[in-house]
Amino acid sequence: FLSGKRALVTGSTSGIGLAIARALRAEGADIVLNGFGDESEIAALCEEMEASYSGADLTDPAAIEAMMAAAGGVDILVNNAGMQHVAPVEEFPTAKWDAIIALNLTAAFHTARLAVPYMKKAGWGRIINTASAHSTTASPFKSAYVAAKHGIAGLTKVLALELAEHNVTANAISPAYVWTPLVEGQIPDTMKSRGLTRQQVINDVLLERQPTKKFVKPEDVGALAVFLCRDAAQNITGANYEIDGGWTAQ
Ligand code: NAD
Repeated sequence: FLSGKRALVTGSTSGIGLAIARALRAEGADIVLNGFGDESEIAALCEEMEASYSGADLTDPAAIEAMMAAAGGVDILVNNAGMQHVAPVEEFPTAKWDAIIALNLTAAFHTARLAVPYMKKAGWGRIINTASAHSTTASPFKSAYVAAKHGIAGLTKVLALELAEHNVTANAISPAYVWTPLVEGQIPDTMKSRGLTRQQVINDVLLERQPTKKFVKPEDVGALAVFLCRDAAQNITGANYEIDGGWTAQ
């Protein structure tokens, strides 16, 4: 149902963004990929999805402008690229703060401001922001990430209001722990540093606040993104969809 629609998914060379790109592609959308990674792996993804690709570093507004100009009109904008840094506030590297705010929050302002004129003209559009359970709750040592994710939840609402009469919706998706290579890669180190088994790390550390004790699957996030593009979702805007195994119900 998305053939003829162009979808730009930021941070789509890995994890959640990749799953969202694949899910939108499966519905027929033309995909623009973005993110870092191994050149041959990215080429294989482009071939798999018949996608184009931008390697823009989204912490750089000029690179975002070049990416958006090259992409042309974007019907579906998925702001997903993000990164994390964990440190007490008094030790938090200021460069890390700036980079996380730039990537996890400011980049979405730039892509949105550049995508909106076309969406308004087309009379249809979908903006989907990957937020986080940390867009409504906090954890210690994640000051920049939590601040940026709360920020993107607010930006999503403003976009929803400004675009409400243009058939353009803006929504956030807020996962808790999603099983991505990033999360899987933390397990061996945590086993070593805390002297725990793999299962203990999964249940007692990673899934401690996730009542279902199950990771969210990237494909589940992809399926929700597809739903938000459907006509049935035309009146869903300004929402922040938790997909978190009950994390934020606590
Ligand atoms: P990931 O590390 O697997 O993917 C991140 C993507 O962003 C990659 O494609 C990477 O190349 C790209 N990227 C990184 N820096 C970039 C930059 N400067 N410019 C352009 N692209 C850049 O991570 P993920 O787990 O798939 O996370 C994706 C999004 O989901 C992030 O916004 C993250 O905060 C959010 N999220 C993840 C989880 C989780 O448990 N994995 C939970 C909640 C929210």
